[in-house]
Amino acid sequence: MDKKLLDILVCPICKGPLVHMKDANELICRPDRLAYPIRDGIPVMLEDEARQLSSEEIDAL
Ligand SMILES: [Zn+2]
Repeated sequence: MDKKLLDILVCPICKGPLVHMKDANELICRPDRLAYPIRDGIPVMLEDEARQLSSEEIDAL
């Protein structure tokens, strides 16, 4: 994924920075505990499409 694009992306809910999980191809918002999928290199910044993270996953970040 484009690093510059990643730099300007924020969480649509809290407007906070996101963590790029390269292996999972997801963008993580820790405060909201959500993982936004990256499909075909395009981040899907929709709350409805995001995956809820478990506390174990949050702790592992
Ligand atoms: Zn957020």
